[in-house]
Amino acid sequence: MTLQLFDSRSQSLRELKPIKAGEVGIYLCGPTVQAAPHLGHLRSGLVYDQLRRWLEAGGLKVTLIRNVTDIDDKVLANAKTENRKWWELAFFYEQLFSAAYKKLDIAIPSYEPRATANITEMIELIQTLIEKGHAYQVEGSADVYFSAASWKDYGELTNQKSEDLVDDTEAKDRGKKDPRDFALWKSHKDSEPKDAAWNSPFGLGRPGWHIECSAMSVRYLGTQFDIHGGGLDLRFPHHENELAQSRAAGHNFANFWLHNGLVNVSGQKMSKSLGNSILASDVLTDSNALAVRYYLGSAQYRSVLDYNEGVLEEAEVAIERIGTFLQRALRRLTDTKFLDQLDLSKPSFPEKFTDAMNDDLNIPAALAVLHETVREGNSSLDEELLQEAAKAYAEVLAMVDVLNINPEASFWKRSGFSEEAMSALDGLIQLLIAQRNQARENKDFETSDRIRDQLKAVGVVLEDSADSTHWSLGAS
Ligand SMILES: [Zn+2]
Repeated sequence: MTLQLFDSRSQSLRELKPIKAGEVGIYLCGPTVQAAPHLGHLRSGLVYDQLRRWLEAGGLKVTLIRNVTDIDDKVLANAKTENRKWWELAFFYEQLFSAAYKKLDIAIPSYEPRATANITEMIELIQTLIEKGHAYQVEGSADVYFSAASWKDYGELTNQKSEDLVDDTEAKDRGKKDPRDFALWKSHKDSEPKDAAWNSPFGLGRPGWHIECSAMSVRYLGTQFDIHGGGLDLRFPHHENELAQSRAAGHNFANFWLHNGLVNVSGQKMSKSLGNSILASDVLTDSNALAVRYYLGSAQYRSVLDYNEGVLEEAEVAIERIGTFLQRALRRLTDTKFLDQLDLSKPSFPEKFTDAMNDDLNIPAALAVLHETVREGNSSLDEELLQEAAKAYAEVLAMVDVLNINPEASFWKRSGFSEEAMSALDGLIQLLIAQRNQARENKDFETSDRIRDQLKAVGVVLEDSADSTHWSLGAS
């Protein structure tokens, strides 16, 4: 497997060579659970789910760690506004994130560490940095800062000049020696809840955001691991600072840095001030979760994904086309030797699909191969070329399964109509099919054609085979 990934640190495509043969460790910066998830959060979770599934399809064992930042300035601020305990607020939003990921069938990570459960590791890491001369405690306070000047490679991740490296999230200068320095430990303030502080050798306080990920990645993946991922908005200051402090502590840290692009809304950046954020709950209903997954995963992960009216409908049409082909092929091929001869236990990806996926997960190109294979498969069925149709069937199955967008998969079937509604709909359509059959028997083709056309007008497509009629939703 020669998967090429774009490494943000070297700004180049590089071949992924696992540190330990057959295994890949991924650390993904998870959400700060301060508010409900929006489309950008879902995209980030989904992109790394796609990567994980592709690596696993290549026979690799993946350990994916996605943290939960449950203590942070914003968590405390929002808890105050909402008049809730900070840990209650964090846990509440964590559950919303988990539910949204689950709706999109994003596989649960190997582990999901909470920052508050790893304070000991963070304190140890800060102590190491102080001992090595890369961090200092402010006199008369528990504040500890990383010393940017002490680390000559500071800025290497985002390739910035030193004057641009001021961390805006650390705007309040509380005894910094250099404006680029960033907080590792923040002393407890009287205005903050007493239970939002931990004892440490530096005094009562809580960790800075960046140190959380440096400590948690090492705990679960070791001092050197394959891939560090996150949204493009985390490159600076978060990832730059993570890298500096981890390397200053003597860790090799991540071999690859991957950054996924953000989601825009009708060409504009999503932001609180514009009031244009699309929340997961705005788009995710049970019936269209697959369309949301298809849409969010349809762009190359590094590009900006634009959300606008119509994108989910387009995704639904694409999914229906795939589902209709899979149903049609299965009906025609069942009880033929062509289906029996297929070995569906091993995925058979078209070479062009594999090439696209290995080219830095070029999903748009991979989806083009998928839809082309659906088209060819339909033509083969039209022409009764069953050997070719069976091959297309196996290939389409392999592609939609690895992308987890198989409309026939039980997970997505469940999320559509309820069983009762589906059964009632089937009963109604069977009644109309019976009336149509009666009309055909009576050679009343005007009526039989009218029934077919009327059904088509409401999105139900009939397909006749030698001795029966099948129906499906959507265009054939
Ligand atoms: Zn992080």
